[in-house]
Amino acid sequence: MKELNQKLKELKLKLEEERESLIQQLKQLEEPEEFGGDAGDYDEETDESEEFSLKISESEAVRDRINEIDFLINKINSGNYGFCEKCRNKIDEKDLEKDPELILCSICKIKK
Ligand SMILES: [Zn+2]
Repeated sequence: MKELNQKLKELKLKLEEERESLIQQLKQLEEPEEFGGDAGDYDEETDESEEFSLKISESEAVRDRINEIDFLINKINSGNYGFCEKCRNKIDEKDLEKDPELILCSICKIKK
């Protein structure tokens, strides 16, 4: 079982690295921008709010991904990694190899 532990360590490390870079990304996305001098221009304001909502959906996607990563790291830490979230059966190792972030077994995945 040593091999599996090694794999999990590597996966966790990879996830933690990704998490770190996502947090940096989020910081940049949510950094308040300095206001320009021509705040009275209506067209400009529309553009800015469009850009703003784009940024919000972008940062939401980043947050979602961070949540996903947290969830997976939690699963690894609690020893639940590799088990289906729904039926608690063991997920096929071959499937996990293809997609290490699987949280549902092949049966529940189809039912979903
Ligand atoms: Zn299942």
